[in-house]
Amino acid sequence: MAMPITLPSLPYAPDALAPVISKKTVDIHYGKHHKTYVDNVNRLIEGTGYATLSLIDIVQKTSGQPDKTTLFNNAAQAWNHTFFWESLTPGGGRPSAKLASLIDRDLGGYDKFRTDFIAAATSQFGSGWAWLVAKDGALSIQKTGNAETPITDGGTPLLTIDVWEHAYYLDYQNRRADFVTAVVDNLLNWERANDRLGA
Ligand code: MN
Repeated sequence: MAMPITLPSLPYAPDALAPVISKKTVDIHYGKHHKTYVDNVNRLIEGTGYATLSLIDIVQKTSGQPDKTTLFNNAAQAWNHTFFWESLTPGGGRPSAKLASLIDRDLGGYDKFRTDFIAAATSQFGSGWAWLVAKDGALSIQKTGNAETPITDGGTPLLTIDVWEHAYYLDYQNRRADFVTAVVDNLLNWERANDRLGA
């Protein structure tokens, strides 16, 4: 049965991420950008074989297919944005338990992770995403362009930061590094990352 792809509710109030991310940015980023990707997916899959698939299956099945680029881009952006909102929480925190030990083992400890994650997010040329990913039992920091997402490469994303200009321009203008640093230090949802690891 065809089910529309839905825009999930934000897991917090739209002003809950302020002052790191303003209510105005969340209202536009979630209510306009994210919603538009979801609406586009529903328009593109209507009456097609994709209409019965989950969002993640649409992303997987359209990845790397030159004639499905528009659907892939919108579906991947819909998935990435839902994951981005889940990657944030007011007040943030620090990795605990198993995740902290994996960061020590694979990424040189929290301080090096922090430096390298900020660098990845800041240096992604143009629009895209920075990710903390678990794959084959190991953690890595990745960055992807535009709508590209680690889920098409067998990775399990644990956290992401959206570095499209729409994510920060109202609050930080051209200062992407300030946005990324503030998010890493104040908003990352390590509890959720730990859950995704299955720890
Ligand atoms: Mn975005």
